[in-house]
Amino acid sequence: MHPFLSLAASHQQEIVALLREMVECESPSDEPEAVNRFVDLLVERTRDIGVAKTFRAGRFGKHVRIEFKLPGSRPGRRKDGQLLALGHSDTVWPLGTLRQMPFRQEEGRLWGPGVLDMKAGLAFFLYAVGMLRELDVPVARRVALLVVSDEEVGSGTSRAITEAEAKRSAAVLVLEPGTGLTGKLKTSRKGVGAFNLRVEGQAAHAGVDFTNGASAIVELARQIEKISGFTDLERGITVNPGIIGGGTRTNVVAAEAEAAIDIRIVRERDAARLAMQFQKLRPFDKRCRLTVTGGLNRPPMERTKAMAALFSQAKELAVGLGVSLEESSTGGGSDGNFTAAVGTPTLDGLGGVGEGAHAANESILVDRIADRTALLARLIQSL
Ligand SMILES: [Zn+2]
Repeated sequence: MHPFLSLAASHQQEIVALLREMVECESPSDEPEAVNRFVDLLVERTRDIGVAKTFRAGRFGKHVRIEFKLPGSRPGRRKDGQLLALGHSDTVWPLGTLRQMPFRQEEGRLWGPGVLDMKAGLAFFLYAVGMLRELDVPVARRVALLVVSDEEVGSGTSRAITEAEAKRSAAVLVLEPGTGLTGKLKTSRKGVGAFNLRVEGQAAHAGVDFTNGASAIVELARQIEKISGFTDLERGITVNPGIIGGGTRTNVVAAEAEAAIDIRIVRERDAARLAMQFQKLRPFDKRCRLTVTGGLNRPPMERTKAMAALFSQAKELAVGLGVSLEESSTGGGSDGNFTAAVGTPTLDGLGGVGEGAHAANESILVDRIADRTALLARLIQSL
């Protein structure tokens, strides 16, 4: 057995205990004080092995970058970039979720809010670093972990920090959950955007003055039909009007209506084309006015040659741990979209193996804790 794997297995109960502490420290995106408590826990647990720097994040909790003290002669540290691990401290679960979903170990799994997305990845990474120190394994690069507090709400305040860190990095390891119960890594993610379409019509009494009204609702319905046509499944473009609203009463011709639309693209260059299609929308009923806002929030993570090469390297390292690693693509975005888009090879989905992110069955497989931790240690050692 590989020494990293046997060491990770021997630490498994401690990893579970740390993960329990993390899950029981709830940290919803919109509760900055709770997120700050979680960040303080991370800083406290790495006090002896790293140097932490925090960043203020407006109305969100603080972001934190922890640089680790690792074996290896410093003059020999490679100058062509650090190795960046990337995670987030926030979860989608409101404070008090633990009452219905307590942390527990059952059926070979660990359960609880945020256990998969993505506290497991953070716990594994801290132990991976700890193992390299314990075994005195030399590490060629500077190794930093960036944990942002607003990933689940779009990463608005952390994006610039993540991109700047990625530009200084030779590779990025994203500690998000793997795909499915085999824990496939993610080598491509769709780009994600949102548009808002607002229609202003003309209000009128539906009985007395019908023909003088210009219905914003009817106009919006026709626009939605048109917008839905922007979907191009073969190119991996989806356009989803996810929320609509409008009107005031049944006997009033609606003066206002609005739609919020989610877009996903596989190729960066489709972003501009799609934005153009939205900007070119014109009212069917000339008495209505359209206002379009929005655009791409996360560029796609494209599977470049460098990304594929990084995955092959990970796959080879996993073989030594008895794991046959697979890759996957997803329509969901992560902060890995930003790091890949600045041109830094990014390996995503290295965290927990399980299912139920953002759902009541959120859980990770206990018997994949050791190999995931060992794989992270191998990657830090080798990249
Ligand atoms: Zn996540």
